[in-house]
Amino acid sequence: MIRSIKELTLENLCLDNLSNELSHLTEIELLSLISDYKSDKTVKEILQLYSINTIPSKFKKLLPLIYADFCSHCGGKVVFELQSKTYSYGLLEEQTAQCVQCSHKPNGYSCQCDACVRAENEKRILAEAQKKRVLLSKREAITKEYNPDRYKKIEESELGATEKIFLSVIVRNCLSEDGKYIAPIKNSLLPLTPSNELTTKLIRHLTSRSILIPSIDSEVDTFVFDEDQIPNSYYTYEVKYRLNIDHDDKYSFLIERLLHPEIEICESIEELLKIWQDLALYEVLSYFTYQMNDVGYSPVIGEITTATFNKLLEVFSVGQIYNIIFRAVANSTRAYQSGDYTKKHAMNMVVASCRNQGEKAVAEEWDLKPYNRIKQLPESELSRLIFTGILKKSNQGFYSAPTLSNLESMLEVE
Ligand SMILES: [Zn+2]
Ligand SMILES: [Zn+2]
Repeated sequence: MIRSIKELTLENLCLDNLSNELSHLTEIELLSLISDYKSDKTVKEILQLYSINTIPSKFKKLLPLIYADFCSHCGGKVVFELQSKTYSYGLLEEQTAQCVQCSHKPNGYSCQCDACVRAENEKRILAEAQKKRVLLSKREAITKEYNPDRYKKIEESELGATEKIFLSVIVRNCLSEDGKYIAPIKNSLLPLTPSNELTTKLIRHLTSRSILIPSIDSEVDTFVFDEDQIPNSYYTYEVKYRLNIDHDDKYSFLIERLLHPEIEICESIEELLKIWQDLALYEVLSYFTYQMNDVGYSPVIGEITTATFNKLLEVFSVGQIYNIIFRAVANSTRAYQSGDYTKKHAMNMVVASCRNQGEKAVAEEWDLKPYNRIKQLPESELSRLIFTGILKKSNQGFYSAPTLSNLESMLEVE
């Protein structure tokens, strides 16, 4: 590779396609023309000196190309354009290098010469094969690690009310068309519970007991692999699941029973109450988050918020707490807009305001009107299953406080 003008010889001049404007010059003159071009002389002076008939801006394009290398593919000569006059580093413009024989561009970004296109194709085919191999070995690792044979089957008779209810919510919404597996939870069209946090609890309740197991037919990238390419966890909402339940009769009968669970309500009252309380808390938290976000607050739900709403739920229904939250948020935004409080302070007032309103409502025996659900937070599948499906008391879960006495009175024959 030629670095400076001194290294340039006649051998280096590529005189094929030499422009007409330079055709009157000898090879020696061309060499000194290039030398002058890289000197302090102006282009105008050079044009005069060599009697070249062109305008200065077009002059550089007329200069001959320089042979300065050999092609790594075919051994042919590689030509370069000269660096422009003002460029002080190097003599040749490396990006312009091109083999005169095979058109290979050694410094080009993506060379389209035959050899490079062929090499690129081979690289792509190799990469695809490699990807397939990795996928295959990951699939094998999943099959080994999560093989259904590694899980002890759970007897259907061992399922408690909580498990039956949780399973039913999932089977109702996510069972595949052929009934063979649970489709990824994230594809459920309806909300299984009022919040992802509760839905996660519900799924974990079943997976931790191996009632649901991740299906080895799930997409490979729904599993998380460690450095040794062993799948050590999976994405709760993205894997498919299998039912790991032993049953005495046909599988379709099992599905039928899971869709319409028979719950011994009186024996399971404690379990039902626990689910209702959880459900109510998350309905309240979802509404709280929704209203807060709606006015531009970004609340963090911590111990105090949860404890406050749990306490309110001892006395009030979810609908009534919607009322309390709505007013607390409205008061807070008013306080913020009046300029008396910073946004953060006003936001932090909301939970305390809910607590105070609740205490006042009890002390002063308010008749606190319940609000209705809003369309942005429709009734979840868990709520519908319990109150409409099992207790046959549609919506009562929303309009009564989740307490044992309210649950018992719902069960009394009218
Ligand atoms: Zn070549
Ligand atoms: Zn090439």
